[in-house]
Amino acid sequence: MTPLFEVQAVDRDVYQHRLESFLPSRLIDIHTHVWLHQFQAKEKGECLRAVTWPQRLALDNSIEDLRETYHLMFPDKTVTPLIFGSAISLQDDLDGGNEYVCQCAQKHQIPALIFADPKWSEAEFEARITAGHFLGAKVYLTRSDPQIAEDDIQIYDFLPLHQLKVLDRHGWIVMLHIPRRDRLRDPLNLAQMVEIEKRYPNVQVIIAHVGRAYCPEDVGNAFEVLAETRKMRFDISASTSAENFELLIRAVGPRRILFGSDLPILRMRMRRICEIGNYVNVVPKGLYGDVSADPHMREVEGDDAARLTFFMYEEIDAFRRAALKTGLGSNDINDVFYRNSAEMLGEAGMPESYLHDQEGR
Ligand SMILES: [Zn+2]
Repeated sequence: MTPLFEVQAVDRDVYQHRLESFLPSRLIDIHTHVWLHQFQAKEKGECLRAVTWPQRLALDNSIEDLRETYHLMFPDKTVTPLIFGSAISLQDDLDGGNEYVCQCAQKHQIPALIFADPKWSEAEFEARITAGHFLGAKVYLTRSDPQIAEDDIQIYDFLPLHQLKVLDRHGWIVMLHIPRRDRLRDPLNLAQMVEIEKRYPNVQVIIAHVGRAYCPEDVGNAFEVLAETRKMRFDISASTSAENFELLIRAVGPRRILFGSDLPILRMRMRRICEIGNYVNVVPKGLYGDVSADPHMREVEGDDAARLTFFMYEEIDAFRRAALKTGLGSNDINDVFYRNSAEMLGEAGMPESYLHDQEGR
């Protein structure tokens, strides 16, 4: 059987020399997407209101593919994912995707979030999460009312107050990818993040991708504001910014930072650079089709291409460098890559048995 993707000498070298001994033996990946191609709309609507490069990485990501990915990338580790779907287009089969995630979670005894629709009423939102044994919700900006332009979308347009009330009542998790062009430094985003923490203190909020702060220019005064928060957590998924990881560690400490990947896109072979605040994924020529129209993608050839490794390894290595600079110890690293998530998932209702005997599932 051919493997899902190729692990090259360059990848093994990075893993063995920089990551293998840095990482604990058990990991929790708090941010993964699992879906089958059949749930995705054939024709994407014109206003997808999101970047296009992630769609080039994988047509789908079955639970089997996710497990094989961990096996190939972390051959000596045990990885437990928190899974959810990928219904980012309004035409996608949201219910089919959620049903599939629910079945995968039950069969493999792993935690999962529902991919939520902001149109669901308080009662419907609660009933769907309960019926599917989910631990909370993944919400996404593209599910906001289509009348709202991408730049004007606010958090409450896709995470309405009546759904926050439900999450608060149960102590459930919400995975929040914040909207708006200014990302983490956007004052409205910051104000609403702080407001959610004050008004709904039992919701376990995870700010995905460190608030999409992929470049130094995305930060503004965000970490001063966030240093005053007490509860919200941040996942480091899909970021390779050691500078911003360092600021995050200094602002909130290692107990509120969670390892997450954003698989399957973390299978990408790349390195990321920032140019005047715009992030660019540098990739091997031809590997991901025609990317000439995408301002976040650039191709390289020859030696430059041969040196590129997985996005997953780039992310973890960036965090390793930030950890070194801020003096985190191995207990802190274990917190970020395992214990913080284990505690949070337990508080949200995950059976403790899910973290034992993961081998062989
Ligand atoms: Zn994601």
